[in-house]
Amino acid sequence: MPIALNRAPDAAPVPPFEHSYAGLPGHFYAEIPPTPVREPTLLRLNQALAAELGLDADWLAGADGVAMLAGNRLPDRVRPIAMAYAGHQFGNFVPSLGDGRAILLGEVNDRQGRRRDVQLKGAGRTPFSRSGDGRAALGPVLREYILGEAMQGLGIPTTRALAMVATGEPVFRDAAEPGAILTRVAASHIRVGTFEYFARRGDREAVQRLADYLIARHYPELAEDDNPYAALIAAVAARQGELIARWLLVGFIHGVMNTDNMALSGETIDYGPCAFMDAYDPNQVYSSIDRYGRYAYGQQPSIGLWNLTQLANSLLTLLDDDPEQAKTKARSALDAYGKAFEPAYYGGLRAKLGLLDTQQSDKSADDELVTELLGRMAQHRADFTNTFRLLSDADPDAPATLEPVRALFGKPDAFDEWTTRWRTRLAAQQEPNAERQARMRARNPAYIPRNHRVQEVITAAVERGDLAPLEPLLTVVSRPYEEHPDLIDYRRPPEEHEVVRQTFCGT
Ligand code: AMP
Ligand code: MG
Repeated sequence: MPIALNRAPDAAPVPPFEHSYAGLPGHFYAEIPPTPVREPTLLRLNQALAAELGLDADWLAGADGVAMLAGNRLPDRVRPIAMAYAGHQFGNFVPSLGDGRAILLGEVNDRQGRRRDVQLKGAGRTPFSRSGDGRAALGPVLREYILGEAMQGLGIPTTRALAMVATGEPVFRDAAEPGAILTRVAASHIRVGTFEYFARRGDREAVQRLADYLIARHYPELAEDDNPYAALIAAVAARQGELIARWLLVGFIHGVMNTDNMALSGETIDYGPCAFMDAYDPNQVYSSIDRYGRYAYGQQPSIGLWNLTQLANSLLTLLDDDPEQAKTKARSALDAYGKAFEPAYYGGLRAKLGLLDTQQSDKSADDELVTELLGRMAQHRADFTNTFRLLSDADPDAPATLEPVRALFGKPDAFDEWTTRWRTRLAAQQEPNAERQARMRARNPAYIPRNHRVQEVITAAVERGDLAPLEPLLTVVSRPYEEHPDLIDYRRPPEEHEVVRQTFCGT
């Protein structure tokens, strides 16, 4: 049982939490306070995010703030809840998952008036914990902090970490590890699995309440639609299609795209065994628990649609009284997924190669040019990030500038054949080379959080209590399209002995 909480009367800089989700019916969540920890220490406060949220960074970093971020002492304005949800895990339905180690403190309205959830991850057991300890280990907390900031830097919708706190307590995974709590900020925490939870219980009223809440919070323009729930499926599908396209364009592998890990806001959520790939390989898998490659890099688009199909199934009873009609409407709403994914992905790839879409350009020929390069990259294990970034810096009319890209291919001839075609295609654009380069650099990051660098941060922190390697990595991944001459080594792919072959979810 959690220890009783000390309550402090709220002072002015306390975050002005609101509780719209807790205003939903009682079976949507469990009211549960965090379990206090022995010795909280603030490891890092995300100053930029605190400012974006309009929160007082000095208060957060002070005694009362850290006590809140550790779950030890909550301001009066907090109303802690754990959310109920179900989910398909690796294709198998689990009717009750829920926040087993996450506790929502409340919502704040950020500087732009957007409602954002503030949640403690690793804050202790809840009624949804099953056999888990409700805690998080420092390693996965660091990974989530870094990858969230990297996604933000890349311009991809994501949840982010406001803070990391060490608990001063061990957690027991394969071995004892230092415990930590991450404060997660999300547009919301409603997942495909949240709908599945109520739908599987036949609770149509709850499904409708949740759908109405989701529309009001994230898709207000749909409220007046003739069939708002079909429109909701289509709108969620479109955001997901675009999101997954953007993952592919930077080489991101989520690693555990279960339906409980897909947020309906369109943000990337639940950074577990995720990773950015080094060498391009559509079959790349890092997650230690993904034994059959269900969530491999190149599987992500089809898994996205599979998950959305589970969402549509959960909403069927709201679409039409006639079950056949409802299915027809669901299917046509899901078309929005491909309609968003295809142009975002192929258009994104064309842009990565500097190809302008014009009246004269032949999109299908351009797509073939792109696919041809990707095929050669896969065959010759070229580094994904560096291939595109070094192409951005090259001038196809000056062969010497192509040397660095050539060198990335196990067999450089394979690249030479392709460059001739790229050069001809670019020449047709009649655009100054510098302009093309600038456009390409804005699409092709120089820096990603490479696995061996993330691992280096985790090892230093966990084994030596040394957080120093975190800062340079955050510097480059927060502004990944810029050059950081002092930190150029962060662009380097791993040496053979540095390669990280597996990542772990740490639950
Ligand atoms: P995840 O793999 O992190 O998406 O979690 C899947 C489910 O397991 C969710 O219901 C989590 O709340 C729960 N869970 C994960 N880790 C723990 C833990 N250490 N203690 C309790 N529940 C957990
Ligand atoms: Mg999860």
